[in-house]
Amino acid sequence: MEKRFIPLSVPNFNGRELEYVTNAVESEWVSTGGKYIEDFETDIASYLKMPEAVACQSGTAALHLSLRLADVQSDDEVIVPTLTFIAAVNPVKYLHAEPVFMDCDDSLTIDVIKLQSFIDTQCDFVNGKLINKISKRHIKAIVIVHVFGNLADMEEIMKIAKAYNIKVIEDATEALGSYYETGEYKGKFAGTIGDFGAYSFNGNKIITTGGGGMLVSTNNDLLKKAKYLSTQAKDDVLYYIHNDIGYNYRMTNLQAALGKAQLQQLEDFIKTKEKNYEAYKKGIENIKGLSILPFNKNIRSNKWFYSLFIADDFKYSRDELLKHLNEKGVQTRPIWGLINEQQPYKESFAYNIEKAKYYIDRILSIPCSSNLSDDDVQYVLSILKELSE
Ligand SMILES: *Cc1c(COP(=O)(O)O)cnc(C)c1O
Repeated sequence: MEKRFIPLSVPNFNGRELEYVTNAVESEWVSTGGKYIEDFETDIASYLKMPEAVACQSGTAALHLSLRLADVQSDDEVIVPTLTFIAAVNPVKYLHAEPVFMDCDDSLTIDVIKLQSFIDTQCDFVNGKLINKISKRHIKAIVIVHVFGNLADMEEIMKIAKAYNIKVIEDATEALGSYYETGEYKGKFAGTIGDFGAYSFNGNKIITTGGGGMLVSTNNDLLKKAKYLSTQAKDDVLYYIHNDIGYNYRMTNLQAALGKAQLQQLEDFIKTKEKNYEAYKKGIENIKGLSILPFNKNIRSNKWFYSLFIADDFKYSRDELLKHLNEKGVQTRPIWGLINEQQPYKESFAYNIEKAKYYIDRILSIPCSSNLSDDDVQYVLSILKELSE
């Protein structure tokens, strides 16, 4: 078989991208004003069945704004996952607050049983505030990451959050399009259940604007405030009156033009991702020592990333397999390192991290672009098969 190069995850521009971006350029509205911004916000809000959405520069910016609007201040604590991309955690530090790291379960999303046991054993609930017994800090919020398009157990999480007055920020940057098919949140999309939901349109995400993000909330007043903060907190545009400290976090019209065209194709992208996931699963089932991690059963996942699980009895270690696949032109990536072991977070509190430690050495993300052909999938499978023999 002829050698190819199959990237992990690349953009797919087969819709009206050029037309809309050209329109934006021709209109000369290329910056943070222009019709595509509001258009894209309306399109996303309507897709997500939410009243409004606010377009930002990045998913990280959307998360930062969420935490600020959740009133996270210096010396507050925020519960975060340790198995995630670091951008889900850094905004906690931007606000000089402290993260408290939690483990994942087999879905790679937060372990809700451990979350409850952390609260039961390490915290006091006094005067409506959840207080960390050791640090004495107020735990104000939790960041839930819907890892790789899988969905965390929001039913349990919302019960806990309501019981202890903690704000819920859903990092849905990897899960645009995933929703619950059963249960209390049937029909609800990732990011639309907690107090805030953040999305990302970075180049590797399921739809892209080059760089960009979106914020949704169940509270329209807070969403208005998000828009205000994202545009330098202008109280009077003419006379430059600012009554708060804002940011330059607004999405540009060029990005929004790209986003509008991308969103029109999201459901098609998900169909392709589903089809390729099934093909991988079928092929990998027959390879001893390898499997592909499932998505939760009660959801329609966007199947953003595919996790190849390498059992201990497989011929190669995770890193050896990565190297061999790379030599054959198949780009893969290990899952992230644990955030609580990264330099800036080594001193932060982490509660019984076990599963996350187990998974980080055993998962490779394999090619999953929405323009991956059947033939590409068969090529990857044939290489995996060859390597396993
Ligand atoms: C991509 C990603 C982000 C950040 O989004 P950007 O748009 O790149 O800032 C945050 N959290 C997670 C889990 C991500 O995968």
